[in-house]
Amino acid sequence: MATINKNFNNLGGSYLFSEIAKRTKAFLEKNPNANVLRLGIGNTTEPLSPTIIKGLQLGVEKLAKQETYSGYGDEQGDIRLRTALSLFYQDRGITLNAQEIFISDGAKPDTANIQQIFGLKNVVAVQDPVYPVYIDSNIICGRENIVYMPCTKENNFVPKIPNKKVDLIYICSPNNPTGTVLTKKQLQAFVAYAKKHKAVIIFDAAYAEYITDPAIPKSIYEIDRAKTCAIEINSFSKWAGFTGVRLGWTVVPIDLVTQDSKPGLLNTLWNRRQTTMFNGASNIVQEGGLAVLSKQGKKECQKIIAYYIENAKIIKKTIVGLGLTAFGGENAPYIWLQVPSGMSSWEFFDKLLNETRVVGTPGVGFGKQGEGYFRLSAFGHRENIQKAVLSIQNNLKL
Ligand SMILES: *Cc1c(COP(=O)(O)O)cnc(C)c1O
Repeated sequence: MATINKNFNNLGGSYLFSEIAKRTKAFLEKNPNANVLRLGIGNTTEPLSPTIIKGLQLGVEKLAKQETYSGYGDEQGDIRLRTALSLFYQDRGITLNAQEIFISDGAKPDTANIQQIFGLKNVVAVQDPVYPVYIDSNIICGRENIVYMPCTKENNFVPKIPNKKVDLIYICSPNNPTGTVLTKKQLQAFVAYAKKHKAVIIFDAAYAEYITDPAIPKSIYEIDRAKTCAIEINSFSKWAGFTGVRLGWTVVPIDLVTQDSKPGLLNTLWNRRQTTMFNGASNIVQEGGLAVLSKQGKKECQKIIAYYIENAKIIKKTIVGLGLTAFGGENAPYIWLQVPSGMSSWEFFDKLLNETRVVGTPGVGFGKQGEGYFRLSAFGHRENIQKAVLSIQNNLKL
């Protein structure tokens, strides 16, 4: 007799984006001629740059010829790409060898799967508001003990270090949804906590390339001793527009230890997990990844990121100009605004849609502390961003 994994019953409703779709659809039924302006979704919109297209084309062409055809590659990724990433870190003064870097089909699966190498009794700490994958992947596997680190206006959206002992700590900086970045000192405090309590930090750096302030760390390994207590997960999605192409990586340093493991074991466990359950990222796509990491590729990606950051500036300036309070948007493609007092996130969603036709994301969808906040995304074509801010300026009744 088969039974289901009852842990699924413990998941909170994942109704955020379906509820947004439902309300948007209802609005369009009432206003069939309305042109809805979407600033809601964290999805890239600008085309891939020429160098990266060439890389992907090379990957395709290689498959067309007997001499260069390849089938399955290493589950851990193409050694050329792992080496290129190791050099990428070296440019930042971080020493990691290729064996410590695992290529994947994206950061979302890695952030969801990484918990499999840790014990089920581990207590998990997450930011609130939070990227929901961290919580839900742990709940599906049976961990119920989740500790929330509130990120509020009062603490500048910097997660409060738990006042009790936790074992796994998920940190996302630059942050989705708040757009906050953590300073060196703030990250040092987390590393110190992890060392003291023999905890492991899982650092999601998916937006690292959006950091414009040179004093802000782009990698957790810029912090002393982090290699002994942190895993870093990153992605080509937001950096190079690979949201639909799919490519990411995870760093499990040899030096990483837990209370019950010596250096190297966690790296071996992740290797075992990946070789068992993953058959490697696409060879075509990895060729594209190599192109991203070329000097010209990096330059072209930086240009597109600068375009999104300019979008963020335009949005934030408009919001602040209206007398509202907004955060983020400087080292991240998200603006986190405080909704007018007395309103809930969803009430503001309806108001913004009805008055301005702009669709955003209610903050409460990312956690309890997100109530009273609202996320606007800077991904979009400039003309749509401009239309949206103009409509907000002209039509939002405050
Ligand atoms: C978009 C995003 C990712 C990237 O996921 P991919 O699977 O690489 O596309 C990871 N973490 C956060 C917080 C994100 O917002």
